[in-house]
Amino acid sequence: MLDRFGREITYLRMSVTEQCNLRCRYCMPVNADRTKGSVGCTSADCDGELCGGDGAGTGMLTPDEMITAVRAAASLGIKKVRITGGEPLIRHDIVSICERTAAVLGIDEVCITTNGLLLKKYAKELAAACVRHVNISLDTLDAEKYEYITGQCDCPYASKSSRGGAEVGAEVTGTGNRIGCPAAAAGPERVLAGLEAALAAGYEKIKINTVLIGGFNDDEAEALAGLTLRYPIDVRFIELMPMMGGVFGPEAYISADEVLKRLKGLEKAPDDGVARMYRLPGAKGGIGLISPVSAHFCAECSRLRLTADGRLKPCLHSREEYSIRGLDETGMRARMEEVILAKPEMHPRLSYDSLSEAGRSMNRIGG
Ligand code: SAM
Ligand code: SF4
Repeated sequence: MLDRFGREITYLRMSVTEQCNLRCRYCMPVNADRTKGSVGCTSADCDGELCGGDGAGTGMLTPDEMITAVRAAASLGIKKVRITGGEPLIRHDIVSICERTAAVLGIDEVCITTNGLLLKKYAKELAAACVRHVNISLDTLDAEKYEYITGQCDCPYASKSSRGGAEVGAEVTGTGNRIGCPAAAAGPERVLAGLEAALAAGYEKIKINTVLIGGFNDDEAEALAGLTLRYPIDVRFIELMPMMGGVFGPEAYISADEVLKRLKGLEKAPDDGVARMYRLPGAKGGIGLISPVSAHFCAECSRLRLTADGRLKPCLHSREEYSIRGLDETGMRARMEEVILAKPEMHPRLSYDSLSEAGRSMNRIGG
């Protein structure tokens, strides 16, 4: 279906949970509600699934409601669905949700975005469930920095004291806020193990997404780009979006152009969707730069977003939301038409002092 500005809406980003086994500082507020939906654990010993609630009675969509929404979306011309969250792989039923999504008539492509901690466990099953592309989020290759950026943890192995006093609602400050979780400390290693499992499972495309943050991981751009020499994957650097105030200072917001200047010897490659693509000589995959802040891509926007609690968002950075809870497929379809026609031409400018108007943190929207 076309929106009012002639853009064809073909892509649904569907969040299947708000909950996550990490607490990335740019994504999830420290006082995030941990009671809704399913909550996971990343400890190496436990399998990361403390509870896998199906949404019933939690205010979240059930899997049946999600699939009805996908059917309604497909009837309007949606062809691609990205499963996201929160962390989608903390759900016990994630494989079934992906399989059912891929089986909907008209859906050509199902992709998933994950922090990769549980990917080793699910890579094969998800590929068998017709998931074609996997995006893995990894901001650093350094275990201590990983532990810092991924924030607090509900893991039973993180004792109260080792959470650095980070009770729910507590202020997050510096590296003093260690979580003491053995799995988080081994995070990069574990994510790379997930990546290798995904490579073995034979996905069409695997991408690593890195949010580059000035003063935190911008010194790792070359090392992360170097992963494309080792693996047949794309590594994409994404500008930090100012979703919530107060977590990072202005120096954290570095532009994709700045990153490009720092990466030496890149060759230009054909662009891929919203990513400007480059390549290191001899690399097995590409390097992408995604600039949601310095050069928004509203003119090419083909997206509709469905949150885990059943709200459609016409734009990531708009406060507007339309509920599909309690509607049947016909009702959902009508609501989706309304939302597509409500898509704004573009969102307001984003910057350190001009925050997103999304009204929710990223884990509650679905990044
Ligand atoms: N948990 C999964 C993961 O981390 O890949 C999926 C959900 S997460 C919200 C999806 C993506 O949003 C991640 O790649 C994350 O880095 C990105 N993200 C979250 N907050 C962001 C922000 N403030 N700016 C830019 N990207 C952000
Ligand atoms: Fe969780 Fe992904 Fe948000 Fe990190 S970016 S807190 S992994 S939802």
